[in-house]
Amino acid sequence: MKKIQSLCNYCAIDCNLDFYVDEEKNRIVSVKPTPGYPVNDGFCCIKGISLDKQQTVVKKPHTPRVKMEDGSYQYPGWDYTFDLIAKKFREIQEKYGNEALAGISTGQLTMEEFAINGHILRDHLKTNVDGNTRLCMASAVVAHKQSYGFDAPGYTLKDLELSDTIILIGANPVVAHPIVWDRIKKNKNKKLIVIDPRRSETAKNADYHYPIKTKTDSTLFYGLANYFIEQDWIDHDFIEAHTNKFAEYKEFVKDFPLEKVSEVTNLSMEQLHELIDLIHNGERVSMWWTMGINQSHNAVRAAQSIINLQLLLGNYGKPGTGANSITGQCNAMGSRLFSNQASLYGHDFAAPAARAKVANIFKCDEEVLAKGPTKPYNAIIEGINNGTIKALWILCTNPRHSWTNNETFQQAMDKLEFYVVQDIYDDIESMGECDVFLPAVPGIKKEGTYINLERRLSRLVPVLKKDPDEKDDYEIMYGIAKALGLQDIIDNWKTQEDCFNLMRACSKGRPFDFTGVSYKGLEFSHGVQWPLPEGTKLEEDERRLYADGKFWTPDQKAIFQFEPVPENPMPQTEEFPFIFNTGRGTVGQWHTQSRTREVQFVEGVSSNHPYCFIHTSVAEKLGLQHEDWVTIYSCNGQNADFAIRVTDDVQPDEIWAPIHYQECNKLTPSVYDPYSKEPSYKSAVVRLEVKGAK
Ligand code: SF4
Repeated sequence: MKKIQSLCNYCAIDCNLDFYVDEEKNRIVSVKPTPGYPVNDGFCCIKGISLDKQQTVVKKPHTPRVKMEDGSYQYPGWDYTFDLIAKKFREIQEKYGNEALAGISTGQLTMEEFAINGHILRDHLKTNVDGNTRLCMASAVVAHKQSYGFDAPGYTLKDLELSDTIILIGANPVVAHPIVWDRIKKNKNKKLIVIDPRRSETAKNADYHYPIKTKTDSTLFYGLANYFIEQDWIDHDFIEAHTNKFAEYKEFVKDFPLEKVSEVTNLSMEQLHELIDLIHNGERVSMWWTMGINQSHNAVRAAQSIINLQLLLGNYGKPGTGANSITGQCNAMGSRLFSNQASLYGHDFAAPAARAKVANIFKCDEEVLAKGPTKPYNAIIEGINNGTIKALWILCTNPRHSWTNNETFQQAMDKLEFYVVQDIYDDIESMGECDVFLPAVPGIKKEGTYINLERRLSRLVPVLKKDPDEKDDYEIMYGIAKALGLQDIIDNWKTQEDCFNLMRACSKGRPFDFTGVSYKGLEFSHGVQWPLPEGTKLEEDERRLYADGKFWTPDQKAIFQFEPVPENPMPQTEEFPFIFNTGRGTVGQWHTQSRTREVQFVEGVSSNHPYCFIHTSVAEKLGLQHEDWVTIYSCNGQNADFAIRVTDDVQPDEIWAPIHYQECNKLTPSVYDPYSKEPSYKSAVVRLEVKGAK
């Protein structure tokens, strides 16, 4: 039996796992969380421990399925299919323009796969590709860039154990990030505070829960900032040495007295003062947010209101502190740096020196490189629906289910002239009548690099061998690049290790410089958090940024970012009196469930139909009982049926539904943060009608 250490490619924690493999049969016999790995140290969740279920997922034949001209589906082989895709992409671009072709990828790919995909679509084909990371992390990314000058979350997971006051805002790690929860539990000397409209699983286990009204977070944090400034409970030395725009911020937050904050947030004055005292009396205060903040019409400013408060308090760079964004997918961080979507492989698209540097590394002409960020996800879907985009290539994502207001993706699929789906499954909701299905092997047969939520590079090592006719995502993209005749890729990007080395060279001199890390050296290691420039000795497994108070802006100071709180674009009305909030349902369910449906244990304990939670008082008024059915009508014009669960954990004017059922995002709106273009998944307004028992 051979032991192979690799990683779990579900969530952003990137747990390392030991796979015990019968090499003769090419079968995983068991999976155990890797002891001593600094992230998960011998612990993981049901999703990681069940990765062996993916060993039979790709059904035979392992070759592409192509819709032929007569409408029949055939399996003409990889080379034929690569040539067909190249021909169709070129034809559509020649007929309608470069941007008539688009791509949508995912935070599940390896760093190398993002990079080659971005180089093909953004650089060579001069068009747009965005990722489903837009749906979860874009707001945090923009907040970091504007406040710090670079997308550089500074924490290490150890900070959860070192903090004496942990504040979770719109985050439910008991369900969504079990390792974060494990690390919190290991900290015996902390006060745990949860700010969340819902009494989530985490809120139930916290010392303090503040059930804030949905989407009033920035008002709360502006008000707290004002109070701390008024009391002079702020870190003047840190503010003076390491921040800009304090005077303007001080003036701005004067408009947020606690009485007003109480009225807007539904938190009482007693609750606000209690929260203030907890923060003021804490010595190592850390604040952590995730989708409750990121998925909003005002997300970037809400995230920055948290950042601003920690800047005021000087809570940066010290153990157990920070304004810390918890990411969603396994390689969201890799996507942010190397997908070539929002930056030029971690550089400014417009910087002449950066363009010359990257072109030199890639051995291509500078003119090849993209000149600006991609069109965002929403613009791609809208482009298909308004007829300007004619061809789409989706990679390892399921937008028919996960896209906000997801009926708009069905409309888009129906309009495409050429549609390519690349996935490990041939039955996801987004398959539609795609022209080409490209079957990729699952992660247990792939190699590459991932970067987790605390900037840790880690190696995906192939656990099982591929069958001769199977291909991984990188090989598929490389095959398409070859068919397109993209010479620099053919010459310099042959393997994932080649690509890693190109990205490593791109990182030189940048905040994420990992020139001191080697592809082979990452294998069976503890992973390495960036930065690690060449020649630097790795002294510790857990490192944080900002100990020197230096940020990435031109004068190395962080910037207070703020603006008046915008009107909620979806206010409650008589017609739509409830707020429809969404989130992860159980630890075992992942996103659209295309992967976790394989795990029998999860299937056995999860609901097989959509459900939502409504408050006891509402159920009593409507005469509803557990598992009765309602129809929910959304302000987006759609409706869907849900079974109800009756609870006191949601507020009386709130309905909460898990995201794992396609009906959920049928109801979410086409509303986005203005800076990040991340959808506002958590605050559609709706009404419900009783259907009765089913
Ligand atoms: S899903 Fe996340 S927490 Fe669970 S095993 Fe995988 S990486 Fe770890």
